[in-house]
Amino acid sequence: MKNKFAFFYLIFILNFFSFFYSSALSVNNFTSYEQKEKHLSKNSLIFINPEKAILFITKAYPEKIIKSGFDKNKELWFITIKNSRKKNTLFWYDNCFLPEENLNELLNVTNISQKINTQTETINIKSIYEPLFYEYPETTPDPKNFSKEKIAQIRELSSDEHIRTVQPKGITFLFNALYDGESENLIRTNIIKSNFFGMRVNMHKDVIPHLKKVEEKIKTLAVTNKKIQAFIDEIHSIGGFNWRDIRSSENRSSHSWGVSIDIMPVLRGRQIYWEWSKHSFGDKWITTSLNARWIPPKEVIEAFESEGFIWGGKWELWDNMHFEYRPEILSLTFNN
Ligand SMILES: [Zn+2]
Repeated sequence: MKNKFAFFYLIFILNFFSFFYSSALSVNNFTSYEQKEKHLSKNSLIFINPEKAILFITKAYPEKIIKSGFDKNKELWFITIKNSRKKNTLFWYDNCFLPEENLNELLNVTNISQKINTQTETINIKSIYEPLFYEYPETTPDPKNFSKEKIAQIRELSSDEHIRTVQPKGITFLFNALYDGESENLIRTNIIKSNFFGMRVNMHKDVIPHLKKVEEKIKTLAVTNKKIQAFIDEIHSIGGFNWRDIRSSENRSSHSWGVSIDIMPVLRGRQIYWEWSKHSFGDKWITTSLNARWIPPKEVIEAFESEGFIWGGKWELWDNMHFEYRPEILSLTFNN
């Protein structure tokens, strides 16, 4: 009897430590969205332990994260971010980085045991905010491999009803701090004119150097690769910073911080954005073959990814014109 108890105790301890120290990420089939006012996207969300989250964020924005650690009073991990105007401390809670006021709001509705659980096992706790991290695949998901269940899941995620009940985005607080962009007036002071392949685009000043490197890489590749030159030649228009009236400040598009760029090609009948395709074809949009979609050459996608931009064509709710500066998501995928 005593041995049996010891055995279960050992298993319990091993599980506990393997969870805490494992570099494996907990992937849960929890479903929600990333909503942009116009672009709506969603891939499987990822729950991650706080030390790992801090590691990815620090690697992604090394000049901006000036401090990180464990706050013994709050029993929470934190990061301090310095943007061009001020310092902000954010605490890891509910799978995202929250400022103190939002944290206090949440702590009022949750109890201490949930607070401690958040650091060790986030799986069974109801989230208020949409988690910061989501699964970004190495290769573009091909609908010919989708199971019936997968198709049903995407149909559900893209339904009007689901879109109405979207969670507030956890990324909001991190972006406000990184890009000094809590309000339209503030963010506009950080947006500057640039150009991409000769077309004017307004972007956040911190993202422009990365975008310029992408452009250089693509230009170099185009010298010897006709497909890449054709990609450049068929660019029709470019979109960058975009502030629209948004119902909730926590559901802003990444375009409202000027960290995303849309590349609109001459379409010639090809599909480019799930919602437009849904409008034309109903639920059949889900299985639109990759051949029927406009897809940039893989070298172009890789040039963006190598400079920290994810491509919206890898989302289940695909948005093939969209590239967004999210180096932390890429380091999670490519483990670099
Ligand atoms: Zn976009």
